[in-house]
Amino acid sequence: MTEGLNLPEYYIPPEIEGTVAITTLDRIYNWGRRYSVWPMFFGLACCAIEMIATAGARFDMARFGMEIMRPSPRQCDLMIISGTVTKKLVPQIVRLYNQMPEPKYVLSMGACASGGGPFKRGYNVVAGIDKFLPVDVYVPGCPPTPQALLFGLMKIQEKIDQESISKVRWYSDEPDEGIPVPILGPDLIDPRDFPALLKKEQEKEKQA
Ligand code: SF4
Repeated sequence: MTEGLNLPEYYIPPEIEGTVAITTLDRIYNWGRRYSVWPMFFGLACCAIEMIATAGARFDMARFGMEIMRPSPRQCDLMIISGTVTKKLVPQIVRLYNQMPEPKYVLSMGACASGGGPFKRGYNVVAGIDKFLPVDVYVPGCPPTPQALLFGLMKIQEKIDQESISKVRWYSDEPDEGIPVPILGPDLIDPRDFPALLKKEQEKEKQA
């Protein structure tokens, strides 16, 4: 099966179509990865039920090569944030994301994951996982239907299609330190905000 692999400018005789392809390294690399995305097997709230339905026989994620949901982050390349993100859970989510090997993608499923949804004003809710993780695709809805999630998964595939080995971040010389794990105290603190918080406190002390 070589669908989408052959470069359009090269003619392949009909008798060997589907067996032979003339392509580029980028195209074959992306072609292999787009059909073998393994999502992480975890859910956060009601959106997770729709995600589970998507994996069932009726909607059949296996058509996209994504049916192997892995319970270990070390074997996943897609994190689906399916539900309300509470402050208590963010350190665990970031830690799991850091444990996933590159290349890795994040899909934010539903209103809660993307912006807090109906619980946005809750003292314990994070108004969007994109405050902590680099989200690749947002799927709107409360909850999004399985069809909507499938559409989002196809968008991940399209994103993979456009990548180039020479430009992707996981082959760059820059060391990837991962995302600092937030600290949960009386409130959630992102270590990346430390300099700004320190400055604010110093200004307060000066005014006192
Ligand atoms: S977006 Fe709606 S369905 Fe999804 S977790 Fe939030 S409240 Fe539940």
